[in-house]
Amino acid sequence: MTQASGAGARLSIGPGRIAHRLSRARHLAAESGLDALLVGVGADLAYLAGYAALPLERLTMLVVPARGRPTLVVPRLEAMAARATAAAEAETVAVLPWDETEDPFALVADAAERGAEGGAGTVRSVAVSDRLWATFVLRLEEALPGARFSLVSDVLRGERMVKDPDEVELLRAAARAADRVVEQVAHGRLIGRTELDVSREVRDRLVIEGHDEAAFAIVGSGPNSASPHHQATDRVIRAGEPIVLDIGGTLGGYGSDITRTLWVTGGDPAKSPDEAFLALYRVLRDAQAAATREVRPDVPAEHIDAVAREIISAAGYGPAFLHRTGHGIGLEEHEDPYIVAGNRTPLRPGMAFSIEPGIYIEGRYGARIEDIVVCGEDGPIVLDTVTRDLLVVHG
Ligand code: ZN
Ligand code: ZN
Ligand code: ZN
Repeated sequence: MTQASGAGARLSIGPGRIAHRLSRARHLAAESGLDALLVGVGADLAYLAGYAALPLERLTMLVVPARGRPTLVVPRLEAMAARATAAAEAETVAVLPWDETEDPFALVADAAERGAEGGAGTVRSVAVSDRLWATFVLRLEEALPGARFSLVSDVLRGERMVKDPDEVELLRAAARAADRVVEQVAHGRLIGRTELDVSREVRDRLVIEGHDEAAFAIVGSGPNSASPHHQATDRVIRAGEPIVLDIGGTLGGYGSDITRTLWVTGGDPAKSPDEAFLALYRVLRDAQAAATREVRPDVPAEHIDAVAREIISAAGYGPAFLHRTGHGIGLEEHEDPYIVAGNRTPLRPGMAFSIEPGIYIEGRYGARIEDIVVCGEDGPIVLDTVTRDLLVVHG
């Protein structure tokens, strides 16, 4: 269950849920013939232990043996932080600090061996977290000679893709917080300011509205709106041009990611969007809405992409929609399931992903609309609530 902890009653995933995830992971590891999962710093560690550890040159590693209790191997100076995690407090994992002169890889090997059927020296197969640094992987290979290495995502993908109700609640809270920032920016002053200035304001507001931290704040004005991942520059925003605003951060560890397209008029009717842009935007809005409506269980992920793409292509903008329609979101900003041609993964209730078609006319302008959508039992649950109409900004 979701619990309030600390000042400001922040949302977080409770120890019961963490214990359940760990026991599922152990079961799946055993089922895959693995002796242990070796999980370094990152989203898998947050998922399995509720531990948002720092990425350090010193090894932090959760060892989830196929049998027995998981061990969290941490540098001595991180032991206090590790013991404060949901998994350690509930004693679901044992915290094992290592001293500066100790070999943490030997400790990991020991902990993994406890999960292997034959004991010492018999670890045959382990999975390491996908983003584990090469420097750690090579040392682990030395510490576990003869063991076959694979990826934790092969074991956990299915689990992490389907969000439990607590995760959906966190995604919703993150989406609502980001929504408020979009509303604030659309009601504020933009003309005469640089993209960078607006981008900094967005980052500040994301935190003020409840995010743990801001992750990105794309402000693409005028011709820069045609570059989907534009990095804010010192370009000055003028009346009579669009802005693609794509912003997000994490709240309780879970991501927000919303895009709206603005048009800045400065209150001057002569600076209203031109017919060509309005036509482009209507197509985009139809495509985003139609793709969203198609979300329901058993529909392949690629179908959502196809629906958006067909509408945009039929209107003649096919090549201008130059990226996939969306990506999964959770503890990572981009994760499975990807909403892209070729991904036949059937949608299941609880899957959360973006639906974000865009149309980009290089050298001129572009537009994108992005919502985070959860697959519900009978259809889409759209977490973002800001209107999908073109946001005309007078300031
Ligand atoms: Zn993106
Ligand atoms: Zn985005
Ligand atoms: Zn996105």
